Amino acid sequence: MNDPTFDPVRGSTHEVANQPPPLVDWNLYSSDRALAEGVARSGGSWSEGRLVEYGSIMGSARVFELGRQANRFTPELRTHDRFGHRIDEVEFHPAWHEMMRIQMSHEVHNLPWRARRAGAHAARLAKHYILAQVEAGTACPITMTFASLPALEAEPRVAAEWTPRVLGTEYDSRFVPAEEKKAVLIGMAMTEKQGGSDVRANTTRAHSIGNDEYELVGHKWFCSAPMCDAFLTLAHTEKGLTCFLVPRWRPNGTRNPFHIQRLKDKVGNRSNASSEIEYRGTWARRLGEEGRGVRTIIEMVHHTRLDCVSGSAGLMRQALAQATHHAEHRSAFGRRLVDQPLMKNVLADLALEVEGAVAIMVRLASAYDAAADNETERAFARIATAVAKYWVCKRAPGMIYEAMECLGGNGYVEESMLPRLYRGAPLNAIWEGSGNVMCLDVLRALGREPGTLDALVSEIRAAGDPTLDERADRIVKELGRGETVEATARRAVGEMARCLEASLLTRFAPPVLADAFAASRLGAERGSVFGELPGGLDLDAIIARASPSPA
Ligand SMILES: Cc1cc2nc3c(=O)[nH]c(=O)nc-3n(C[C@H](O)[C@H](O)[C@H](O)COP(=O)(O)OP(=O)(O)OC[C@H]3O[C@@H](n4cnc5c(N)ncnc54)[C@H](O)[C@@H]3O)c2cc1C
Repeated sequence: MNDPTFDPVRGSTHEVANQPPPLVDWNLYSSDRALAEGVARSGGSWSEGRLVEYGSIMGSARVFELGRQANRFTPELRTHDRFGHRIDEVEFHPAWHEMMRIQMSHEVHNLPWRARRAGAHAARLAKHYILAQVEAGTACPITMTFASLPALEAEPRVAAEWTPRVLGTEYDSRFVPAEEKKAVLIGMAMTEKQGGSDVRANTTRAHSIGNDEYELVGHKWFCSAPMCDAFLTLAHTEKGLTCFLVPRWRPNGTRNPFHIQRLKDKVGNRSNASSEIEYRGTWARRLGEEGRGVRTIIEMVHHTRLDCVSGSAGLMRQALAQATHHAEHRSAFGRRLVDQPLMKNVLADLALEVEGAVAIMVRLASAYDAAADNETERAFARIATAVAKYWVCKRAPGMIYEAMECLGGNGYVEESMLPRLYRGAPLNAIWEGSGNVMCLDVLRALGREPGTLDALVSEIRAAGDPTLDERADRIVKELGRGETVEATARRAVGEMARCLEASLLTRFAPPVLADAFAASRLGAERGSVFGELPGGLDLDAIIARASPSPA
């Protein structure tokens, strides 16, 4: 019975074995072939050097740790100071501030407006997609600031004051009037308790005090990033729903009444302070015409929806990278997971989803670049933003869950990062136009701007593929008469998205990938869960391309 090697005090229970090395210090741009090829295709090669630099910073262990900390040590609301004065400030962990500083110094909030050249939207979307992989909370004020500029420009006097501030790149976390800052952040406050999708039900009132200046009374039920310097908001004047800019400070240097009632306790996106606010005689400047508020703010909404696409694509890319890395380093039943046929099928299927999302994202970027001078591209951007916002955001939660399962139990544990990606996944689908609302938006675009259907189907037909041509014909037949009933709009929009992604991959991705995409997404036997790819596909090639450490 006596075992001479047994030492009850110093005996070790086990050695750590068969655990993958941490996936850190990798370049989130250079290692992502679909992304780099897409940026080049969209005319963004001039930004290659900056993208490689940004990809390296964002993939560093230090920045991943900032992302973790910003979500672990969440923001706190301070409504009053010690003497009882209202201050309505939110306190963030230093990791949040450092993350914001990195983003603004890399122009993630304004690159296309600073560069004003072809490829600028692709370069910025690539960065936003990378940011979403590491810390999606900071992406919220970064997106809103980016998206605000086209709406701010509706009012030249406001634009003259605020555009240069939006174009600044020095993050300034001080709560001081915007005039004292070199760069500002802009938020958005539309949603009220009684309606978010239906903003015409807004109850906030605006009272004119002369000179395009107003005072607002009312509430907003969701106002993310309340520490922004100003907010685009909607309120009713006598002429109807109108868009306003609400700064946190009044022109006389006093705090603008902007009462933060509480912070939301959310599923995910925890680093980002989403709040409920009240306006009580809050000073505001009108943006655009009175009674045309939706028309003014819609420019911001469209650009925000674009970022929902890159945000969800980024979350999926990170989940895929983590799953592939794990499978490359973990063995079960005598073989690495990545060599097990069934795991190969799952990983390759996840990779196809990301390839499709990235393809649609960079194609949209080109359309946004060209939209000002090209009517077809403008029409394409109009409809494809809604199609992609619906589809890419809707695919993310299921895809990320499946990636989580690839890590087994480790994937369900916070340190793996998968839980944070998973909790973040539904958000882009819900905010700024939930799934049904996006499908209705596609119908609206088709009804009001017939050119949008032509732009979309031409893009599908550009692959010169008979199957896609046939499906494009069916889309035209079904939607061209403008009779599509709301009840079947999800079917129609999903079909548009799959055909669009298939067409882009047929033209621009390696043939093995395009073939697998078509076989799994267009056929009658489309799988209802990931990992149902049909036999005979080159799964190894698809996975090798997706690996975060390409051979
Ligand atoms: C984390 C987070 C941050 C947010 N930040 C902001 C912010 O900063 N600023 C801001 O203004 N808002 C913000 N929002 C609010 C968000 O934009 C709204 O929640 C969203 O637009 C939906 O509005 P709602 O919640 O009122 O839902 P509702 O409008 O009541 O919709 C509920 C459901 O009904 C569906 N629906 C609505 N109309 C129809 C229809 N005609 N036919 C079929 N289905 C329909 C919708 O698709 C949705 O699924 C945020 C939300 C979240 C979760």
